[in-house]
Amino acid sequence: MTAMSKFSATIDDAYRARTPVSEALYKEAQLAIPSGITHDSRFTFPYPISVARALGPRKWDVDGNEYVDYFGGHGALLLGHSHPAVVEAVQQQMALGTHWGASHLLEVRWAQVVQRMIPSAQRVRFTASGTEASHLALRLARAYSGKPKIMRFVGHFHGWHNEVVAAAMSHFDGSVPPGIAPSVLDQSIVLPVEDISLIVETLRTRDDIAAVIFEPSGASWGQVPLPLGFIAELREITRKRDVVLIFDEVITGFRWSRGGAQARYGVTPDLSVLAKILAGGLPGGAVAGTKAIMDQLDPAEAKAASREKVGHQGTFNANPLCAAAAVATLELVETTNACQDAEDTAAEIRDGMRKVLTEEDVPWGIYGEASVFIIFPNPAGLPIDPMTFDPAALGFKGIKGSRDAALINRLRVALLANCVDIMGGPGGVVSAAHGPSEVAQTLEAFRAAVRKLKVEGDIQSK
Ligand code: PMP
Repeated sequence: MTAMSKFSATIDDAYRARTPVSEALYKEAQLAIPSGITHDSRFTFPYPISVARALGPRKWDVDGNEYVDYFGGHGALLLGHSHPAVVEAVQQQMALGTHWGASHLLEVRWAQVVQRMIPSAQRVRFTASGTEASHLALRLARAYSGKPKIMRFVGHFHGWHNEVVAAAMSHFDGSVPPGIAPSVLDQSIVLPVEDISLIVETLRTRDDIAAVIFEPSGASWGQVPLPLGFIAELREITRKRDVVLIFDEVITGFRWSRGGAQARYGVTPDLSVLAKILAGGLPGGAVAGTKAIMDQLDPAEAKAASREKVGHQGTFNANPLCAAAAVATLELVETTNACQDAEDTAAEIRDGMRKVLTEEDVPWGIYGEASVFIIFPNPAGLPIDPMTFDPAALGFKGIKGSRDAALINRLRVALLANCVDIMGGPGGVVSAAHGPSEVAQTLEAFRAAVRKLKVEGDIQSK
């Protein structure tokens, strides 16, 4: 018996009855693709939905069911699916060529719009993903400082390249994940965010630290909020100690504000790692940082600074197709109220969910900043009042460190059976295309889902 086998007939039956074509496709997928999925976080028991199309805040599966979508392209879609301006830009570009193997106007316009919005972006270098951008940022920081170690934090996710894997999604105890050389772990100093004095003391006393990297939202788009004053304190000590400060703004960039978390909090890092919204729903990433650090990529500037140039290739960096989607998207984020609209809608969803939980007598928490909402399904049965729940008190161990994957799966599937798709946080990202009808439908689905989960014994009342 696996943990998932507590999946009960009622929710399971409702889900299966609606999604036979998804189930059949999943069976085929399993014969071609390991586990039948192409991103770990899309795992769903008994099988995931297969999607056929999407528009604005909604998507439709291969069985024809319509969902309010809070996966939002893993956070990449601040304007919703297939915004007309983005579709037009991409379609036009497609006919002109997707890869010229040459410099082009759109990459310059893309870098310029990033420069205008992101405070740390004196210079911008594009990559093909957020993982690649995080990889490049660490390389630039090491080259700049001449030091070997990176400080990062338990539970903070920076993509899937070797040196940021341990203690990010698993192996929180410092053990070695499969496929990672043990020597790679020596390159990181991984600390808990909760122990700010240990962090400051480590930075004050060690001379081998090139950079500090973290998610300025707190781990996993704010699931584990940072302690008060954390960001300002790290800015101060890294400046004093000449350690490169890196914000991973893959999620928060263009979402926490037009200028990301750094503009929202008024603290500018030396380097920012960007992706997702950056590329307008197509693949893409970037490092945006100070001229001095970024100029290590420039042969003439590196020579003038008596440094060796830092290498960086990548076939699809700033390809015209992604650049077209990116420029169309970012110019809208820059000139419209998209960011704030999404944030206002998320606040309504969070408030509405708190009310539902209170009315249904369910001791769960709802929180989240900017345009995200996060559900805390209280696996340990703590005495929680949804109206006053404060995740800060639980820290990493109480939230990300004690996730109940089976319970989260049950919630996700119960919501799918009620036409709402959330991420496994559990929670969701809201776009500017979500409006009052999506909010109303979501709250109704949430009420129906928690009622079902209560009936089936997944939730104990207060
Ligand atoms: N950093 C953070 C904070 C992320 O959320 C992600 C992706 N979820 C990444 C890095 C990696 O980005 P990508 O998936 O584009 O490689």
